[in-house]
Amino acid sequence: MHLDITTLIAAGSFVVALSGLLLTGAWTQIRVAPALLWWAAANYVYAIGIGLLAYGAATGTPVVAAAGGALTSLSPALIWAGTRTFVHRPVSALVFAGAAVWIVAGVVGAEGGSHKSTLIAGFAAWSTYLLASNWELWRARAEPLMARWPLMTFFGLHAVVFLGGIYDVIFHELRRDTQPPLGSWFGLIHFETLVYAIGATLFMAMMCKQRSELGYIKEAHSDMLTGIANRGAFFAGAERLLDRCRMNATPLSVIVFDLDRFKSINDAHGHAAGDRVLGIFVDATRSVLRSNDFFGRHGGEEFAVVLPGATVETAHAIADRARHAFAEACRKVGDLQIFATVSAGVAGASLSASFSDALAAADGAMYRAKNRGRNRVERAGDSRSDQAANIIRVA
Ligand code: GH3
Ligand code: MG
Ligand code: MG
Repeated sequence: MHLDITTLIAAGSFVVALSGLLLTGAWTQIRVAPALLWWAAANYVYAIGIGLLAYGAATGTPVVAAAGGALTSLSPALIWAGTRTFVHRPVSALVFAGAAVWIVAGVVGAEGGSHKSTLIAGFAAWSTYLLASNWELWRARAEPLMARWPLMTFFGLHAVVFLGGIYDVIFHELRRDTQPPLGSWFGLIHFETLVYAIGATLFMAMMCKQRSELGYIKEAHSDMLTGIANRGAFFAGAERLLDRCRMNATPLSVIVFDLDRFKSINDAHGHAAGDRVLGIFVDATRSVLRSNDFFGRHGGEEFAVVLPGATVETAHAIADRARHAFAEACRKVGDLQIFATVSAGVAGASLSASFSDALAAADGAMYRAKNRGRNRVERAGDSRSDQAANIIRVA
């Protein structure tokens, strides 16, 4: 079989168009990922553009070729726009910069009788936008999406191939009237485009799917009202933290919070105001917690915090800070002044007992805080009743 560059271009155009369809199809399944539509548009624009370029060159119609060239240089800009959208950054008018530079280079080149400048501008646009896309993905690497790395590899490889194209244009003779040979750098660009179109499409779709799945997992583990861990996720996470502390022989403490006379807040101000107070409590408590403390909603107006590495004394001090912060934050809830308070119990987990034991101990201490007048923090093991309830101290 004889393969020439025109056949390769036609195949590339077809594969890129098909990849665009695949990305559009993926978007219908993962609607939360509009980036897929930008990337699909980049493929459509490229497929049409490259087709027009080849047709314009073959039939000697420079206007058609110029339109094709402008479209192909819009393609990498759309990839960049899609990547910006994916990482939640705004898309600016720079999307059109590549195509604008390409057109200006075309005018300059026409005056000089050379089309080298348009080729250089086109290849430079591709490399720049692809490397800028990689920069966006790199900046957002904190989000654990494994598909980002192979996608960045495809972007990087494609950029390098276009940089090679610039080198080839500068240092080699170009003939306007004939197609470059298959074995030239142009042949490599068109061949690599086939590989790139398939690889990048696969990992773009995979990356969006990974994000969507992570979202579902997060939703399943979060409390809808406050966004912190729900009861199930809290217990699972707390057990893991206790295991880690056991391995490192470091202490772990637990705080149980219960909002005081919350029912009367609902009765006096309405359920919506009650919900706001729950949110205020979560924000106020979060503001005094350390980065590795684990906060969860235990149920209703009850919350718990696991503090790895904290002694009962430290946990007591943190609970008291949360109590103050909450009372202060509730003094002004919109137009309302709500005198909301919270009671808390603190316990240390024994390295040999279960997390439930520590939680029960903190719960017992919290009930003592209620009995002693509310709006206070009590420590497990401070009274006879706690000892009878088999309270565990920090080892
Ligand atoms: P105590 O000081 O003894 O804890 O009194 P309390 O009123 O806080 O305790 P009680 O258990 O009698 O009432 C808890 C109230 O919390 C009753 C329930 O309607 C309310 N509650 C539970 N979950 C929510 C919620 O998600 N939103 C709102 N607004 N209220 C809730
Ligand atoms: Mg309660
Ligand atoms: Mg309560």
